[in-house]
Amino acid sequence: MKLNGLPLRFVCLFFNNRYQENCNLNPVTPLLKPYLTMVLCRALQRTINIARTSQAYSSTLLPSPATDMAVSRQLIFLFATIGFYFVRTAIAEAVEDVEFSYNTSAPNGPAHWGDLKEEWKTCKTGRMQSPIAIDDRMVHLSSEPENLQWNYSAADALLKYLNHHIVIEWKDFVGGVIIHGLEYPLQQVHWHTPSENTFNGQKFHLELHMLHERSDKKMAMVSIMFTIGQPDPFFAQLIQKINGKMGEELELGVVNPKTIKGSIQTYYRYHGSITIPPCTEGVIWTINRKIRTLSREQLKSLKDAIQPEHRINARPTQPLNNREVLLYR
Ligand SMILES: [Zn+2]
Repeated sequence: MKLNGLPLRFVCLFFNNRYQENCNLNPVTPLLKPYLTMVLCRALQRTINIARTSQAYSSTLLPSPATDMAVSRQLIFLFATIGFYFVRTAIAEAVEDVEFSYNTSAPNGPAHWGDLKEEWKTCKTGRMQSPIAIDDRMVHLSSEPENLQWNYSAADALLKYLNHHIVIEWKDFVGGVIIHGLEYPLQQVHWHTPSENTFNGQKFHLELHMLHERSDKKMAMVSIMFTIGQPDPFFAQLIQKINGKMGEELELGVVNPKTIKGSIQTYYRYHGSITIPPCTEGVIWTINRKIRTLSREQLKSLKDAIQPEHRINARPTQPLNNREVLLYR
């Protein structure tokens, strides 16, 4: 759910303090929570007091000053306050579905993803997180070649704008990558600007991700780095299709994932995670060592197609924690 204008300000003011990046209402919301807690506690206390007084009078058969009316009023107030809490939580959770940020100084920035939702805690506690800083001095050359295979085929594709990214999805099965005899069907393609993984301390202008997932939830990510140079033919076609029409969904016609993957001969391999919440681990990463190019104009067009706050959408590198990075060639 994407909020703008008045609804966003309403949410900012009353429901959550995690949207400071968009809200500019920082001092208000942190004060609201203790205030509401205090109101709820006092309502509960007053209800108990009135009920006790009422009970004391009824046992003496004297007329009670704390009438049933007062008890009813307090109960209504109490239930209304509790109701408000439930509505607040429900709305906050609905908004949170997309509201993580790449702004490292924001309260919902990458360092806090693991605190935003219980389901996202792996972003904080995981020991095999992605992306990573790949340093050739600690990479091990694989002793034997791997029989990495691809069986991609063409199908109708759609372009979508989801969770800070432009995503390409196919309407039919388009094959996948076969690693150690297991096929990982391609699910979607998206990209990050700048790159997320780094080579020898270097970031690149764009990192394209081909996300593969099996029905048993095992995942394989194929990653390709791009720097500024000659235009890329696939991005050229894509930008022509987008042509300022980036809405909810855009028909791309027939797309063969082979044309996106290109040739991958030498690649890095490590075990990591997906790079957005919930940061699920158990992802086999294959990163093309060859850096491809796109033109400066193409990079600008791809960035222009999404909202300004999503144009930098790269998670910072995560600790390696003794993981081995292999180089296959
Ligand atoms: Zn990605």
